[in-house]
Amino acid sequence: MKEKADIGLIGLAVMGENLVLNMEDKGYTVSVFNRTVDKVDAFVKGRGKGKKFIGASTLEEFVDSIERPRKVMLLVKAGKPVDDFIEKLIPLLEPGDIIIDGGNSHFPDTMRRTEYVESKGLLYIGSGVSGGEEGALKGPSLMPGGSPEAWPHVKEIFQAVAAKVDNGVPCCDWVGENGAGHFVKMVHNGIEYGDMQIINEAYHLMKDLLGMDAFEQHEVFKKWNQGVLDSYLIEITTDILAYKDEDGSPLVEKILDTAGQKGTGKWTAVTALELGIPLTLIGESVFSRCLSAQKDLRVKASKLLTGKSPDFKGDKEQFINDLEQAIYASKIISYAQGYDLMMEAAKEYKWNLNYGGIALMWRGGCIIRSRFLGDIKNAFDNNPKLENLLLDPFFKDAVQVAEESWRRVCATALLNGIPVPALSSALGYYDGFRSERLPANLLQAQRDYFGAHQYERLDSPRGKFFHTDWTGRG
Ligand code: NAP
Repeated sequence: MKEKADIGLIGLAVMGENLVLNMEDKGYTVSVFNRTVDKVDAFVKGRGKGKKFIGASTLEEFVDSIERPRKVMLLVKAGKPVDDFIEKLIPLLEPGDIIIDGGNSHFPDTMRRTEYVESKGLLYIGSGVSGGEEGALKGPSLMPGGSPEAWPHVKEIFQAVAAKVDNGVPCCDWVGENGAGHFVKMVHNGIEYGDMQIINEAYHLMKDLLGMDAFEQHEVFKKWNQGVLDSYLIEITTDILAYKDEDGSPLVEKILDTAGQKGTGKWTAVTALELGIPLTLIGESVFSRCLSAQKDLRVKASKLLTGKSPDFKGDKEQFINDLEQAIYASKIISYAQGYDLMMEAAKEYKWNLNYGGIALMWRGGCIIRSRFLGDIKNAFDNNPKLENLLLDPFFKDAVQVAEESWRRVCATALLNGIPVPALSSALGYYDGFRSERLPANLLQAQRDYFGAHQYERLDSPRGKFFHTDWTGRG
């Protein structure tokens, strides 16, 4: 074993332990530390036994055990613990050393921390880490951003531990300056909310409209996973639907229907509102979780608001085929909206984001991994200046092929009283996006009527504003 470690990691919880085991497996010597120091010893003598780990009992000892320039990675609870460790590390580190935060930090915090740490003569990286505990151990998707000078020092280790696709291409590349890595991770999580919501709406329709049980649905998802929807989330849904409780019935039907959330989907939606980007599908997905959480109120309302009940009279096979297309088209819309958000953020925060590279980082290792991301990579390879995914010939054709099916699914769901906020808001966005003229002319007139907010005219140059006393004529 080397005398000094290649990298050090603070935070021996589930993510940290698995990531250092992954690093060690790739040949690196890793120094480890944890706030509760007993856990260091327990790890080194337990899961880390006989491996190239240096267990430190003080932060000074930990810093001293790492080769220079030091790479110190934090995988601790996001928020104040990250700031606390940064404060403790700064006096112990030397110019050029690198602090890396691999937790789920909010990107404005990473922007602030990058500036602060750089002002102390050190370098900073905020990296998205996706794939959960299994990904950390076997190969996560890594999305690093921060001080560009830090990247050459960590590139080899990061790309060695990352998931690989297409004969060894790592799902990790430099994302951009300051908070770019955590921003892209945030959008990843928002897209994850959207993908999950779309799948849940399909399940709801198959269950309550078509009357299919979980085991029958399992067969449909299994088939879908061989086609355009091939993805990790479809795969795990297939498994979940087949899982039997002790009495032989599907366990999924016994789970309370209130969704939890940790907040990264909300961050994505709030950021979209702040940047003025129509991120409708992810927004609806966050709200759907909120609505699910109002269980008691829904139970009460269900007794009083007795509206339309499902009554399906169509062709079941045809509807299932339509559903596959509706999911696919909605998924394309969701990614188009997510990319729109990243493009606007890149302008706002002056990041030079590599959009094809981001698709590649998400292609393996992470929760939204799918075949579909390879098509997004191709779209940006074909046109690096692509303004919207829907303008790419492949995706334009795919949505047009799906359009009729998608409309049939949404219309049938609405007529039968089954909520499909993600599928239908995606269709609403699509119809708005492809409209040369929207009704915002009337909206501008209303604003001018009550607030003298002025309007531009179609028959005058842009930038020339008019105001009318709307009570005068008519
Ligand atoms: P976690 O439960 O988020 O955090 C536990 C770690 O943080 C422990 O090392 C703990 O030390 C330390 N910690 C907690 N409060 C602290 C404080 N006030 N001061 C200093 N240290 C403190 O662990 P995790 O689930 O492994 O996640 C680590 C990071 O990765 C988080 O940011 C998480 O959001 C992110 N992440 C998690 C997943 C996942 O699937 N779990 C996936 C992607 C990203 P003690 O042992 O002393 O309590």
